[in-house]
Amino acid sequence: MLNHSNKLFNIAKKVIPSGVNSPVRYFEPYPFFTKKANGAYIWDEDNNRYIDFCNGYGALLLGHRRKEIISAVSNQLSKGTLYCTPTESEIELSKLIIGNFPSIDKVRLMNTGGEATMTAIRLARGFTKKKKIIKFEGCYHGAHDSVLVKAGSGSAHNGISVSDGGLDEVSKNTLVVKYNNIEDLEKTIQKNKDVAGVIVEPILANMGLILPEKNFLYDLRKITMQNSIPLIFDEVVTGFRVAPGGAQEHFGIKPDITTVAKALSNGFTISAVGGRKEIMDLLSPDGKVYQASTFAGNPVSVSAAISSIKTINKLRNKLYSKLEKFNLLFSKALDDMATDMSIPHQINSTSSMLQIFFTGKPVVDYATSKDADAKKFKKMFQTLLKNGIFIAPSQFEVVFLSDAHTENDLNKTLDAYDVALRSVKN
Ligand SMILES: *Cc1c(COP(=O)(O)O)cnc(C)c1O
Repeated sequence: MLNHSNKLFNIAKKVIPSGVNSPVRYFEPYPFFTKKANGAYIWDEDNNRYIDFCNGYGALLLGHRRKEIISAVSNQLSKGTLYCTPTESEIELSKLIIGNFPSIDKVRLMNTGGEATMTAIRLARGFTKKKKIIKFEGCYHGAHDSVLVKAGSGSAHNGISVSDGGLDEVSKNTLVVKYNNIEDLEKTIQKNKDVAGVIVEPILANMGLILPEKNFLYDLRKITMQNSIPLIFDEVVTGFRVAPGGAQEHFGIKPDITTVAKALSNGFTISAVGGRKEIMDLLSPDGKVYQASTFAGNPVSVSAAISSIKTINKLRNKLYSKLEKFNLLFSKALDDMATDMSIPHQINSTSSMLQIFFTGKPVVDYATSKDADAKKFKKMFQTLLKNGIFIAPSQFEVVFLSDAHTENDLNKTLDAYDVALRSVKN
């Protein structure tokens, strides 16, 4: 029993809508309330320790309270937390981001992933003087009107808002096409002459984990280039997590605009939009595409991001190959267990991310992900939690590994999955 969490949740509901500050944090019957976190672990208010595989939804690539980052931030705290003037450290961070991402000539810092994709889309519209945005079904790009849309019914691609209060006037300008389906994209581009940009998660990490099929991203790049449509890689999850230069380094593709956020600072509030010079130079005050934020480039988050990138770049091969090896062992063991128990399942995994789906069919897009048994996933999640493992509570999220996880953690995790998979066997 989580008595303290239960009590806190009942109080929280009175002062915070649904008791949580972001919807996915809620799960039945009530979420645990966190007291502290360190390395690979997170502790709840009842003093239970969990091995954390939610890891700030991917932000904590280097683990909680990573010493290099805590030290850089502590040092900055003694010098102030917000100036709202330019600083030399913003130049240093920009150079580090540009150094890791060859597609980026210039970069502007902001605070959240959603803010970054909002700006990227506005930039694409400002650059092309066109209106429509193409997004892929199931990709998540933040909680603003242009991207908080789902596919309309039938063959019409015009999006409809997933939220009350979202304007149809806005959502209809977002065309929703199927992930891993290049024909759907081609047809949509042929039918619409008013496309300002295509936005995509190069690895889809918001529908569970879905990998791009062999030529999908290359074809996507080719078609957008042929039609002079800016391609936006939303690397809010994959940036710095899949490789120091994100999924675009991994696949060797250069988008026109890139957004990064989560693993950029290993746990502080910061995001960035970068891209080709002629697009980025459209930003105000020199250009006419407006973007602004009080906390943008704040020295605390900037110091965390600098330290984070430097640490990642220093570890480079050691870090990414270690995570990959860990993931291979993890995924293979899960696959073996589920197979032995005759549970229909799919495991999608790459670099430091994985997810299991309870379905007999390969999971390659929105529809096949939705097809998996989410009830079984819920049961598995609950059992994992009882056995000291915290993964993101939804089937449509991802298991994120961090540099802090040890072999011992992996063994404990697999023991817990063994129990959890048995609990969903029937
Ligand atoms: C999390 C996420 C966002 C939104 O970032 P926030 O910081 O939550 O606004 C955007 N795109 C992708 C791919 C994400 O995973």
